[in-house]
Amino acid sequence: MSESATSGAGMTVAAAFAGMRSAAPVSFKASCPDCRERFELAAAALRLAIGATSRATFYSFTCPECGAAVRKPAGERIVELLTGGGVRTLRLHSTL
Ligand SMILES: [Zn+2]
Repeated sequence: MSESATSGAGMTVAAAFAGMRSAAPVSFKASCPDCRERFELAAAALRLAIGATSRATFYSFTCPECGAAVRKPAGERIVELLTGGGVRTLRLHSTL
């Protein structure tokens, strides 16, 4: 009995996780360097700009607290996270 209970719990967690990923809008934790407020932003509130190099790759958003335009460097993992979450991506370099 304990065995089936364990696998049942695992299924539930996996199903809940999959459901969250497809149904609920993804939100990203961010903080504002201006007012130091921390908040969560929906994918639609973020923009990702991918440059020719990782140093030219960054994401930007407008602080919901003070309205500052925030721009932060985006590493590989952040790029993956944002694009996977449906953030609008702008490619600054052309790949011919
Ligand atoms: Zn702010």
